[in-house]
Amino acid sequence: MSKVARIPGYQSKNPKQNRGIIGDREIRYKCSLQNVILDVLRGRPGWTEVPGQNSQVPAAQQGTRPSNQQTSGQTQTGNQSRPSNTGSSQSSNIIIPSRFSRPIQPVAPQATQVNTQGRLGFQSLPPIPRNSDGDWDFYWCDREWLHQNYDTMFLHEHQKILHFRNHYELTRKNLMVKNLKRLRKQTEREQGKTEAQSFDFYPTTYELPSEYHIFVEEFKKNLGIIWIMKPAAKSQGKGIFLFRRLKDITDWKKGEYQPLSDQTRDVPETYVVQRYIENPLLIGGRKFDVRVYVLVCSYNPLKVWLYRGGFARFSNTRFSLDSIEDTYVHLTNVAVQKNAPDYDPEKGCKWSTQQLRKYLAAKHGVDKVQKMFKSIDNIIIKSLQSVQKIIINDKHCFEMYGYDVLLDSDLKPWLIEINASPSLTASGKEDYDLKFGLLSDLLNVLDLENRLTGKEKRIGGWDLLWDDGPIVADDNMDCTPANGSAVSTPNSYLGCFNDRKKQLREIYLTAQSVKKS
Ligand code: ADP
Repeated sequence: MSKVARIPGYQSKNPKQNRGIIGDREIRYKCSLQNVILDVLRGRPGWTEVPGQNSQVPAAQQGTRPSNQQTSGQTQTGNQSRPSNTGSSQSSNIIIPSRFSRPIQPVAPQATQVNTQGRLGFQSLPPIPRNSDGDWDFYWCDREWLHQNYDTMFLHEHQKILHFRNHYELTRKNLMVKNLKRLRKQTEREQGKTEAQSFDFYPTTYELPSEYHIFVEEFKKNLGIIWIMKPAAKSQGKGIFLFRRLKDITDWKKGEYQPLSDQTRDVPETYVVQRYIENPLLIGGRKFDVRVYVLVCSYNPLKVWLYRGGFARFSNTRFSLDSIEDTYVHLTNVAVQKNAPDYDPEKGCKWSTQQLRKYLAAKHGVDKVQKMFKSIDNIIIKSLQSVQKIIINDKHCFEMYGYDVLLDSDLKPWLIEINASPSLTASGKEDYDLKFGLLSDLLNVLDLENRLTGKEKRIGGWDLLWDDGPIVADDNMDCTPANGSAVSTPNSYLGCFNDRKKQLREIYLTAQSVKKS
């Protein structure tokens, strides 16, 4: 039994709840990454680690808390077994020793329980025997593991696991657009054109090679504009290029699909070709996009939380349309920018979303900025609704998405992509603190310790945006609503003040007294 440690801001009369206990057991977790999430799990009072995919890594190499030596840039996730083409924004390079690392005791490998009744026939099994090595209550797994094991495993009533089985419906670039187009058409059919315009947040996109001919027609209608070509399932800016002439793409097509005749792969790689946003909003002459964190605990009913914090990622070089081949100008991925010749690791290339919101409000006015953030809420909800009926809903699964949103010079947000494994590696102290709070509060929302009432609208930095319908805010704190009135303001605080620790203390106290009565 580990040492009793209190959950910050909370003390129950029930000592089990202070330590993180399910029934008569401690909470046992597995984690396949060696970055901030592992530090969060290891620091969680009473939670006990059982070996996962990381158990082969020496303890001294685990964790990524920034040390003095680490300055910036994407650092490593430790997800060595991750396939390169699954739409992730995880990167991999340096592993920073964690000050919090604990040695892992070697134990017997996990025995896989085979579900003989088919995947959807969950059974409520008896509680996991105490200290039965290899079993877990919470698993931060990678997608590859889930794909390989999900169809053949039983999950106990209380178990929680990262990722929904077919998360790629939203996180592969081609499928995301396909699903959005379908819901848009359905909305137009059922509710009319005006309502369908609320889907006007993704740039015109075609899948290649399957929609090549439709793309060519569209290309000819809009001669001179810039298009961006992206592999549907790659990440970190890999394989992306911009073009203006059809010749560029026909040359690429020949080169790209040539290897097929050499039988080096079975099918041509799927790409998306997308209208390039030529008028991005610039700050200091540089382009940026915004990372937004969204937590989905259930698709049916749809339950969505939005995290207040996040960041803007800037390109390192001033924006210009003169050099469309220069990825340092046009791609804002940190993985790309950190390789720029004049990249300054001390300065980095990030702003917090709070900083961004303040700057934009001062420059463009509160009303315009409030409207822009409301449009981001719309992007989140519409995109999730577009896959709501397709995702295999499972009460054991949750997903933390990283949305990439680009603002144009009219302050209109565009959805660029959605990541199922947003990078959880810290690029500096501020980034570490953001991710530590984000992930700690994610565990608070999931509430395996059963300390909350289940009716909370805000838990730390997460605000409940949607619960089978929009959630209305109780107050507006420092983020003033567009029309100056608090009536029917959505419970959305992206980029707003995040006094998460104070708020946690309050809700735990409230929950305690509600539970008592
Ligand atoms: P990846 O998954 O490889 O990161 P993204 O789709 O996120 O691919 O694109 C990488 C970067 O390219 C984005 O962060 C953004 O800066 C830029 N980008 C992508 N699509 C567009 C677009 N349609 N218009 C303008 N910039 C874009």
